[in-house]
Amino acid sequence: MTFKLAVFGNPIEHSLSPLIHQHFASQYGQDITYERILVEHTFAQKADEFFSSGGFGCNITVPCKLNALDYATELTPRAKIAQAVNTLKFTGFVNQKPQFLGDNTDGAGFFQDLKRLNCPLKGSNILILGAGGATRGILPNLMDYRTKVKSITVANRTTAKIRKIFENLQEQVDTGAFLELKASNYESLEPDMHFDVIINATSLSMNNELPKIPPELYSHAQFVYDLYYTKDGSTIFTNKARSLNVEHCYDGLGMLVGQAAQSYELWTGVLPDTENTINYIRSVLQQQ
Ligand code: NDP
Repeated sequence: MTFKLAVFGNPIEHSLSPLIHQHFASQYGQDITYERILVEHTFAQKADEFFSSGGFGCNITVPCKLNALDYATELTPRAKIAQAVNTLKFTGFVNQKPQFLGDNTDGAGFFQDLKRLNCPLKGSNILILGAGGATRGILPNLMDYRTKVKSITVANRTTAKIRKIFENLQEQVDTGAFLELKASNYESLEPDMHFDVIINATSLSMNNELPKIPPELYSHAQFVYDLYYTKDGSTIFTNKARSLNVEHCYDGLGMLVGQAAQSYELWTGVLPDTENTINYIRSVLQQQ
């Protein structure tokens, strides 16, 4: 069987998804086609064309994730929590109407990458910087009681945004009785606070800027992760942490490949090991 796959978005020409999925397929001896589809007008029209010509599954990126949420006829629990869909799978016909399962693999991809990197999660105090779409995506797995995190502090310029995310997720995620959730602004982060893991989920690295946090916070941390990714795996944020002796510092390429792996599993039933593909994509980026 050949899986006909694609990624939809705008812009789309720089998407690494075709390379990532072709690499997964070659590792597992599977046959896929994977194209980039630019959505200039309506997502639903482009998706109809793709699925009526034999499309089996697709990824959806900015700005179409909410359109894909509407397009799906059924949602996975994690897509319901995220209220955004980055993966669709054709599941058959009901009353001659095509059915599509909508999923959101961003959070699970991030979590898969933390596990790959042996991030210390059990009993740990975690600081997340930023409260945008990415933070919303990564929080459910970290908040789940089975992850056994001790506390999660989210810092953002506006704390109202954080409280809204917490309230919404607490209704849907079983956090257990002991998880401490704290909303903070940057000014309230004190040098003597202790966080084992610091995650940069702001968009600051994109502009080569650092979040305004006391440098001591890096020095106390064991593990630092920037969701932004670069050719060589270092960002302004991971460089700062490394200069302050944090041993384990990573960029977000593993998360990108991780979310792709989770989509690939939904379509083919195979959850790819991501290590080889991360190395391959990094080498491709370095040649560009
Ligand atoms: P959003 O635009 O939804 O959120 C951006 C966040 O950055 C907000 O919390 C915003 O704060 C904060 N921010 C922006 N400018 C500043 C500033 N000058 N000072 C302090 N905070 C600032 O973006 P996303 O959440 O979608 O993405 C965030 C990052 O994660 C990006 O770098 C993106 O590339 C990366 N990402 C990586 C993925 C991967 O697979 N590796 C997947 C998804 C995202 P405020 O609320 O105060 O405006």
